[in-house]
Amino acid sequence: MNNRIAMFPGSFDPPTNGHLDIIERASLLYEKLYIVLAVNSSKNNLFTPEERLKMLSELCMEVKNAEVVPWTGLTVDFARKYDTGIIIRGVRALTDFAYEFEIAETNKQLCPEVEVLFMPTNPKYFLLRSSMVKEVAMYGSEIKDMLPPMVSELLKKKFSK
Ligand code: ADP
Repeated sequence: MNNRIAMFPGSFDPPTNGHLDIIERASLLYEKLYIVLAVNSSKNNLFTPEERLKMLSELCMEVKNAEVVPWTGLTVDFARKYDTGIIIRGVRALTDFAYEFEIAETNKQLCPEVEVLFMPTNPKYFLLRSSMVKEVAMYGSEIKDMLPPMVSELLKKKFSK
């Protein structure tokens, strides 16, 4: 598998500045970075796959070697299909690590050729997670500088209906 090609998989419900920070940094390290949007019907997402795809595609337009691809299957199947040697995951607090370690181990067993790399969050986004921004937005509030303006607007619209 090609170690110059990486993927950054996630639900991105919605994309935050924490995600974008990882995308920008990872894109500098690899020839190609796939941003793999998990289109998983069992997850209770606020935004539809189409909405998430549109937001991510617009936000990543400036990152020349990045490409957003929606995906329904296993992460390792994406890696096989697109010849992607590296899976990038962002990690925040230690609590992330136990969960991420389990997924990484499972992926490694399913596909030993693929390597999982953890990228530490920018400390600014240490406590930032999509579920938190949704909860704050539900009560009509917003934490400054955590979301791209476009996402912030769409989130407000979701809860003003
Ligand atoms: P998933 O359902 O796959 O966890 P998320 O959209 O929540 O999808 O996260 C996608 C990736 O982005 C994960 O690797 C996650 O750790 C990372 N991530 C999310 N928020 C941040 C953040 N604030 N800083 C760094 N990485 C983050």
